[in-house]
Amino acid sequence: MKNRLLEFIHEGVVITGEDFVILDFNEAFKSFFSGFNVDSKTKVIEILSFPKMELAFIKAIKGEVFREEVPVYFGKKRLECLVSVFMQEEKIYWIFYDMTNFKALQNAKVDFVSAVSHEFMTPLGVIEGFLSIIDDANMKPSLRKKYINRAMAQLKRLEKLVDQLLSLSELEMKKYTPEFSRVNLSTLLFEAKEEMAYRWKSKNIEVKINCPEEIHVKTDENALMRILTNLLSNAIKYSFESSEVTMDAQEKDRCILISVKDHGVGIKEEEIPRIFERFYRASNSSKTDAKGMGLGLSLVKHLCDVIKAEIDVKSQYMLGSTFTLKIPKDV
Ligand code: ADP
Repeated sequence: MKNRLLEFIHEGVVITGEDFVILDFNEAFKSFFSGFNVDSKTKVIEILSFPKMELAFIKAIKGEVFREEVPVYFGKKRLECLVSVFMQEEKIYWIFYDMTNFKALQNAKVDFVSAVSHEFMTPLGVIEGFLSIIDDANMKPSLRKKYINRAMAQLKRLEKLVDQLLSLSELEMKKYTPEFSRVNLSTLLFEAKEEMAYRWKSKNIEVKINCPEEIHVKTDENALMRILTNLLSNAIKYSFESSEVTMDAQEKDRCILISVKDHGVGIKEEEIPRIFERFYRASNSSKTDAKGMGLGLSLVKHLCDVIKAEIDVKSQYMLGSTFTLKIPKDV
């Protein structure tokens, strides 16, 4: 007779006799397998194994508890589990707590801290360097000004990082409340271009805008502006010097299509599906020496959800990329 209590336990549980023959198990245990089949003679050692399984059994027989984190092989499947084995009323309880998600979370936490620390250390180091040289009383005022400006640029970079992290957590926790209003698209595109002026000017890139003046869209202006500046910033960042970036906008079938096109390094086809993931940076980023944390596009994706827009990417490695937004004209 099945023990109903087992069904309320999230860990995989299997109960055997001292001869290893399976007497009972729960649904969670069953979910560890594909093609799970147990009859009245099946022994637990026939369907799974883990290092120290024998030791676990001996401990249980002696009335002790075995509890260790080990890889468990369920047929061909391997799961990192916290395994507990003990004996009660002549039955042996084998309990498997699947640590896969917990481990992934732990790894993500470590990756996050290391990515953030790394991104903060570089500008902090540069600022420290400039501050230590401008302390020299004999320095020419023009040179001092130049170093202060460079330190300021690094401070801006830090400010942007903090802003990206805060916005992302706000969006992921669904704390952002959009405000929809009628927005003139052409004005917004020119504002985005202006906001990124320091970037395209420093790489001698020409940013062209093709947008009829009368196009309006009902949207959250702040969200759309952030999407555009992120896409434009990437287009410039991953472009070659003295090239051209184009922002096109048009109305089609009650939708607004906005594309940001560059002729830069492009993205390898197999990497495109991953570029919207948090902290993901494609292999081109190390080649171009472009700074970033892999957060911009993840922010863009969340903001697209806010304004109910779709985003599409076309890219050819070493030839360039086009990011196209499709926004419903009226939401
Ligand atoms: P990052 O801070 O690294 O730029 P993003 O989230 O904005 O992070 O982008 C993720 C990755 O996608 C980048 O690291 C880069 O490899 C790739 N990418 C994004 N936009 C472009 C583009 N216009 N051209 C080439 N690669 C791009």
